[in-house]
Amino acid sequence: MKYDVIVIGGGQSGLAIGYYLRRTNLSYIIFDNQKQEGGAWLHSWKSLRLFSPAQWSSLPGMIMTGGNNYYPSRDETIEYLKLYEQKYNLNVKRTVEVFDVSKVDSQFHLQTSDGRMIARAVVSATGSFNHPFVPAFKDMEVFKGRMIHSSQYQSPSEFQNKRVAIVGEGNSGAQILAEVSLAADTIWITQKEPRFLPDHIDGRFLFDAATQMYEAQKAGKQYKPPSLGDIVMVDAVKDARLRSVFHSVRPFDYFKEDSLVWADGHHEKVDVVIFCTGFKPALSHLNDLNIINKDGRVETDGTRAQHVEGLWLVGYGNWTGFASATLIGVGRSAKQTVEEVLRFFSIRNE
Ligand code: FAD
Repeated sequence: MKYDVIVIGGGQSGLAIGYYLRRTNLSYIIFDNQKQEGGAWLHSWKSLRLFSPAQWSSLPGMIMTGGNNYYPSRDETIEYLKLYEQKYNLNVKRTVEVFDVSKVDSQFHLQTSDGRMIARAVVSATGSFNHPFVPAFKDMEVFKGRMIHSSQYQSPSEFQNKRVAIVGEGNSGAQILAEVSLAADTIWITQKEPRFLPDHIDGRFLFDAATQMYEAQKAGKQYKPPSLGDIVMVDAVKDARLRSVFHSVRPFDYFKEDSLVWADGHHEKVDVVIFCTGFKPALSHLNDLNIINKDGRVETDGTRAQHVEGLWLVGYGNWTGFASATLIGVGRSAKQTVEEVLRFFSIRNE
C-alpha cells in the first residue's frame, strides 16, 4: 500500500499528528502495535494519575474534562485518548507492528506485520515505553531476588511484607515508593538528593518552564528555568512525606545473592529491586537508516530528522520539542511538524 504519510505509533503523539494531518489533503495512516487506544498509558500502574490537571493535559482540539484542579487517572486518560481518536475519526490501524524503515530514492519502504508499505514521508511517534532503561550494576546476575523496571510495576499488593529497594529519584520513583511503602519495608536509592517541587506547583510548572524555554529559543535568547525541583507533589507523594518515607541513600556498589553492598562494606538484605530509571526512545525500527546516535537519539532540527529527508520524530521529550512527551506539550510540536510536512510536499509537487 502507498501513502503520502505514514505515522508509526498511535499514542498521544501519533494522535496529535493525525489531528493535524486529517485537515490536509495528504493520504495518511497511523500504525500502532497495540490492540487498543492508549499508548504507554495502557501499561502504567493502575493508580497512576496525571501530574498536571485535566485542563493542562489536553491534546489539540479536545479539552480533557475535570477542570483546573482535577488530576485524571490512568484509566481516564486512556478513555480520553479513545474518545479523541473516535471524535476525529483518525485513520489508525491496529495491531500493526512496523519492523523496519528503509529509504529507496525518495520513498520510504516499511516492513510491517501487515506487509510492505510505501510512503513519501514518515513520522515516528513510538514513544519510549517499549525501551525501559536499567543501569548496569556489578554482579546483578548473582541476585536471587526479583528485579523489575517501573514499566512492569502494577500495584503494591505483590510486595506485601517484603523488603523492597526503589532505585531512581524522578516522579516514577517517588510515586512507586509512596505506594509500595504502604505494603513493604522500603529503601530508596538515588544518585543525588531528590528535589521535590513546592506543594502548590504541579505539572503546569514543568510545562510553563518548557514553554518559556521554547519562546526564548525562538527569540534566540537564553532562558534557564527556575530550578524548583523535579518531583510533583501529587496526593500520594504528599501522604508518603507525612510518613517520612522519603529518606534516600546514594547507590550501592554491587549485588550479592540476597543483598545490596556498598563500598564501605555496608549491606542491606532486599527481596525486590524496582528500577525507576526511565526510558530510552523506542527507535529500533529506524536502525537501517543509520541515524541513531550514541545517545539512542536522532539528530533533529525540532522534530525533523537532519540526515534523512522526509522523516520526523515526535513526542520523545525535550530533544524533539519542549514538553513534547506530555499531552499538553505534544500539540505544539505536532502542529509544527505537519506544517513542515505540508511544505515538504508543496516543494516536491512544484
Ligand atoms: P506512547 O504513549 O508510548 O505511544 C507510542 C505508541 O507506539 C504505543 O502504542 C506503542 O506500542 C507504539 N509503537 C511503538 N513502536 C512501534 C512500532 N515499531 N510499530 C508500531 N507501533 C509502535 N504525560 C503527561 O502529559 N502528563 C502526565 O502527568 C504524565 N505522567 C507520566 C508519569 C509517568 C510515570 C510516565 C512514565 C510518563 C508520564 N507522562 C505524562 C508522559 C506520557 O505518559 C508519555 O510520555 C506518553 O505516553 C508519550 O506518548 P507517545 O504517544 O509519544 O508514546
